[in-house]
Amino acid sequence: MACDRCADLCVRYAIRSPRELRKAIQIAAENIADRTLVEVVPDDHCVFVPFVELAKSAAWDDYVEYHFRCMHCNEAFWLHAETYHGSGGNWEPRDSASVRKNINN
Ligand SMILES: [Zn+2]
Repeated sequence: MACDRCADLCVRYAIRSPRELRKAIQIAAENIADRTLVEVVPDDHCVFVPFVELAKSAAWDDYVEYHFRCMHCNEAFWLHAETYHGSGGNWEPRDSASVRKNINN
């Protein structure tokens, strides 16, 4: 279960445009800055731009996938979006049972 620190992040936020992707990246970056989240780097990531670098620039790959966990309760989150063909993606907890609400813009 999520804790007080990450409860607001336990949403499925639909990413359908570059603007929404930018917003999701900003929110994740803010939560890393205030030490709510920490980035988790999967072992099989071959080409890797650290999230903090991505958040600083406006440039991202055709496919964006980043993983995070709450530093307080270990709840896992991920941000994934296919940007090139515009099919989009989501910000969401890894455990769908942790989704408190769906946000579609
Ligand atoms: Zn938490």
